[in-house]
Amino acid sequence: MPAGILAFCEQRGGQLKKAAQEAVSTAAKLKTDLGGDVTAVVIGKGIQGAAAGLAAYGADRVVCFDQDHFALYSTGGYGRALMQACKSIDPAAIIIPATAMGKDLAAWVAASLDAPLATDCDAIEASANGEIKACRPVYAGKAKAWVHASSAPFVLGIRPNVFGIVEHQPGASVDAEVMAEEFSMDAVRAIVKDISAAENAELDVAEADIIVAGGRGVGKAEGFAPLEELAKVLGAAVGASRAVVDAGWRDHAAQVGQTGKVVSPKLYFACGISGAIQHLAGMQTSQVIVAINKDAEAPIFKVSNYGIVGDLFEVVPALTEAFKKALA
Ligand code: FAD
Repeated sequence: MPAGILAFCEQRGGQLKKAAQEAVSTAAKLKTDLGGDVTAVVIGKGIQGAAAGLAAYGADRVVCFDQDHFALYSTGGYGRALMQACKSIDPAAIIIPATAMGKDLAAWVAASLDAPLATDCDAIEASANGEIKACRPVYAGKAKAWVHASSAPFVLGIRPNVFGIVEHQPGASVDAEVMAEEFSMDAVRAIVKDISAAENAELDVAEADIIVAGGRGVGKAEGFAPLEELAKVLGAAVGASRAVVDAGWRDHAAQVGQTGKVVSPKLYFACGISGAIQHLAGMQTSQVIVAINKDAEAPIFKVSNYGIVGDLFEVVPALTEAFKKALA
């Protein structure tokens, strides 16, 4: 009988990502309703020390695949390792953050296990009788669908920054158990040999706590200068609407929305962005939204917590000065 929850914990270069702590925290919260153990699974190279600390977020067990060939992500390698862990643990649910890596992995693992999958969930409910249901935005966020699974394990992709990180057992630590591989990497058909950062790589909008995003209202590529200045003061990433990316003013990596990245930062500035449904689909789960637009009727104001009606070229520099003083 499947029981407990498995949380996939993403790392890069031996350092756990925030999404790893969030996956374990979410699993620990579900455990209060569902029962069973929370098992954190970490795949990488030189990760056992960092993995042990996941107990603080509620992991009862920490299982690692720690090998040179896991230093870089490969779908087939990580997928086979996670599948092996699943078969050995037999969980009721598998939580995988819906990051770029997690989305890729969740699809592979669900297909390989012939398991139900709910992607990009922003809420999960469980009951003591083992029933789990997951809520996911559909039709570009216009509606919500509650998804029920008819078999276990239920693979749940969780939208980053929505569920939150909670230290359920502050200071706790468990010894990471190393699981020996029962598969050959020869079966993995695509292996990543090297990853090099792009020149002048900027902070990724998908990882940032604060995003300063600009839309067509910025006018031209150079119009982003005041937004970059505000982002620098706040340690924020610079995001963009699709109109801006289509115009070639910013790289596609910065695009937020249905055909860009889905983000849920603590603070999102929408500067000169009208608030088209396809843009909202990527940012409306942000914790606090500040909209700056010279059109008081712009739809972005309907989803914003704070709205400033005005010219962004006056408002953004004024905000930058105010933050500089406040943070000095
Ligand atoms: P506009 O809609 O032109 O808005 C510009 C805003 O700037 C206006 O509200 C204006 O009042 C304001 N403004 C102008 N000057 C100033 C100023 N000086 N100060 C303050 N405000 C000013 N869009 C995305 O963003 N992300 C997506 O992933 C995405 N995916 C899509 C997928 C599909 C299939 C389709 C059909 C569309 C998609 N779009 C996406 C496009 C989307 O429909 C909108 O066209 C786009 O979001 C508009 O971008 P914008 O808000 O920057 O521009």
